[in-house]
Amino acid sequence: MEVVAGVDLGGTAINYTLITREEKFLIEGLCEHPALSKQGPDVCLQQIEDGLKIAAEFGKIPLTDIVAIGLDTPGPASAAGQLSAKGSTNFVHADWAGYDIREGLARKLNKPVSYLNDGNAGALWGHFTIFGANSKETSVSIVIGTGLGGGVIIDGNVVKGRKGFGGELGHVLIPYQSIPGIEGMKPQCNCGRLGDLESVCSLTAIEKTFLPYFLPKYTDHELGKVDRSKAAKMVRGMADRGDAMCQEIFRVQAHGIGLFLDEMVNTFDPDALIIGGGALEASEAFQKWFIEQVRVGMPTQREEQADIPIYVMPNGDTAGARGAAIEALKLARSSGLA
Ligand SMILES: [Zn+2]
Repeated sequence: MEVVAGVDLGGTAINYTLITREEKFLIEGLCEHPALSKQGPDVCLQQIEDGLKIAAEFGKIPLTDIVAIGLDTPGPASAAGQLSAKGSTNFVHADWAGYDIREGLARKLNKPVSYLNDGNAGALWGHFTIFGANSKETSVSIVIGTGLGGGVIIDGNVVKGRKGFGGELGHVLIPYQSIPGIEGMKPQCNCGRLGDLESVCSLTAIEKTFLPYFLPKYTDHELGKVDRSKAAKMVRGMADRGDAMCQEIFRVQAHGIGLFLDEMVNTFDPDALIIGGGALEASEAFQKWFIEQVRVGMPTQREEQADIPIYVMPNGDTAGARGAAIEALKLARSSGLA
């Protein structure tokens, strides 16, 4: 049985999944191994190999059945998997600078390896849950977490970009001034832009911009007495339970997403829009309300496009590994291995 593995290398853990050529996942939920990426490429690649053996046992297949591996990591990295020469938060060891992690892993395992950054892997997973791995459809995914990641899939293929920055949707500017209820707000992003998608729709935005803006308007709100970064993490849960200020914060974020998705509809005329990440790890009723608010925030669509589907992306924790596995399945298919 030919199987393809997905390897999601995060800051502290490596998460594995396995998918068959019939597109069936052999591992439900998380299958993790410590990443040890702080100790540099040699130690980390050995960790990946050791963990892969454990994952094969977990999936009840012999290691030799794995014909290709899909790797995803946080960026910045080139489209082909060369990590930034300037280093990055997750790859601090000096030996990682400019390291070609895709090639290094292919050599270590002596198997073909595909590479995606973690945002694009998540987007490919979202796309797969709707269209499968052999699709020719176009979708745009956004994943709302500490920052805002995502990806664009055109005709079934991930847009990686010339330098690996394809799908950096968080840093696309939106006309946020048109959102009602935030007069005078100045959403500043860490990237230096004023009013990009991440500066309005992310956990960081809640902490840096929304709480300082809204708390003075809701005097004696309980979050005013909580440490700012802790308070930011409480906003989603409180919005879900009906707190007026927290719902207002999420309404503004949903309208921001609506403005952004309108840009995407006019750029790509996609088959689907997909929203995922921690912001939507809430009750079904909250998710439904949030998507409705996204539509409210979208400028009026052409009649032909008004019914564009907006989906909630499932399975947050395993999205990276699963997306990486789907990319590797495509590689295996195109090279006749599966
Ligand atoms: Zn930005």
